[in-house]
Amino acid sequence: MSWASRAFSRRSVDQAMQTQQDYGMLAASVRLDEVSRLYKRSGNSDLLAVDRVSLEVFPAEFCSVLGPSGCGKSTLLMMIAGLYPTSSGRVFINDTLVNGPYTELGIVFQRDVLLDWRTVLDNVLLPIEVKGLSKARYRERALELLNMVGLGEFAGAYPEQLSGGMRQRVAICRALVHDPPLLLMDEPFGALDALTREKLNLDLMRLTTESNKTMIFVTHSIDEAVLMSDRIVIMSPRPGKVTQVLEVDLPKPRTLETRADPHFHALVHKIREAFHSMGII
Ligand code: ADP
Ligand code: MG
Repeated sequence: MSWASRAFSRRSVDQAMQTQQDYGMLAASVRLDEVSRLYKRSGNSDLLAVDRVSLEVFPAEFCSVLGPSGCGKSTLLMMIAGLYPTSSGRVFINDTLVNGPYTELGIVFQRDVLLDWRTVLDNVLLPIEVKGLSKARYRERALELLNMVGLGEFAGAYPEQLSGGMRQRVAICRALVHDPPLLLMDEPFGALDALTREKLNLDLMRLTTESNKTMIFVTHSIDEAVLMSDRIVIMSPRPGKVTQVLEVDLPKPRTLETRADPHFHALVHKIREAFHSMGII
């Protein structure tokens, strides 16, 4: 069994469902209503990064956002998390307007943003502290997650002692530790070697399927998006607009062999064509 599915064993899934019931939460849904983001730049003209993006992400869906560098993917994710305000338009999670940092989610940023003065374990436990939960109660779970990404021995180490890929794996554990119903991941595997990346692709797919999580996954890898997603949102170059939303109707569960399926190739080809028609590849 993989690290992610073990971490979300039947027992922890039941606990999560119980917590969801306690808070009246089901798997999260996300709705973007004409969301735009304009960056004010001193001494420069304003920069429109995201242009009227409307999108609905369904409960327990794995939705990837695919687009060229600089098209506003990270900006979009930050607005969904309530970490950047929208310039216009609105974000709803579970039909509630997001108007400040939203805490019932796990987020992995494009750069790992670990806190250098805290150990690996204390970095993973950060969401527990922020939510005012008992660190002692979650310690075992944090260690279990670290073990599963092969970092058990590094629980007491400091981030500066880790490679980029290891730091990113710590960031993934931190996003998962409080078992949130919604995950936002911004190119989380960019710094990983190809084999680790494939392993984590499979683990994340299994995790989101088994534990009823809603995922918004930003990537610029077409293959990765097709392998993992239920739907793929294709964005134009800046200012980022949604140009196409593609259903990935490949059978599940998917494995690395899925990439040999002729339909996999057809979908990859279709996406390449979409980018080609935008003058990108
Ligand atoms: P992506 O994640 O798709 O590469 P980003 O959301 O990081 O794109 O950036 C979209 C655009 O917004 C880029 O042109 C980037 O330079 C600009 N941008 C991002 N953050 C800021 C900021 N804080 N101030 C000004 N411009 C920014
Ligand atoms: Mg980005």
